[in-house]
Amino acid sequence: MKDKFNWANAGNIPSKGYKCGHCGHQLASQVGYTGTVQTSSHNKVHIYICHFCTRPTFFDYGKQIPGAKIGNPILHISNPDVEKLFLEANDCYTIGAYTSAVICCRKLLMNISVEQGAKEGKGFVDYVNYLNDNNFIPPNGKEWVDSIRKLGNEANHKIDFKTEEDSKLILTFTEMLLRFVYEMPGLMKASMNIEVVDPKTE
Ligand SMILES: [Zn+2]
Repeated sequence: MKDKFNWANAGNIPSKGYKCGHCGHQLASQVGYTGTVQTSSHNKVHIYICHFCTRPTFFDYGKQIPGAKIGNPILHISNPDVEKLFLEANDCYTIGAYTSAVICCRKLLMNISVEQGAKEGKGFVDYVNYLNDNNFIPPNGKEWVDSIRKLGNEANHKIDFKTEEDSKLILTFTEMLLRFVYEMPGLMKASMNIEVVDPKTE
């Protein structure tokens, strides 16, 4: 469990609704700090404190730092490296480091594929193919796979920066994959354990 913080002299400021980039909660906060621009004192900026995780978010004329993560937390990831890398990919996205987010996700797809039996040292597209051929991707996910293949090819053959849309696409795909590979089997296992503990539960 992460630490929670008390913020000295945090006061009431105009209420603002946002999705916290630290914990993912949608909230309206009215606690934080107001700053004025040194050259123009009537222009104000704010730092809001999230009442769920107690972490601060800076609003720089509408730009939220850190921004909201895509998607929702994933349960039952049994591999700490996979969990760490997925968090890192999301962190990259929230600060606008889109190319880094794509690179993290590509590495993540490799880690997942190899953990599930793919050979190491293959290309990105081979890992996506492996996951597809071995039924880790559901039938309605094939449309995604084609987009990811294209993105992977571009990343392999061009030295370019990735866009927000690119990173959103690959993060969404990665999230879906993590749910199928880790969360769903984990939830099944957890529900079976409950049955063992309490035979009255259906
Ligand atoms: Zn929060």
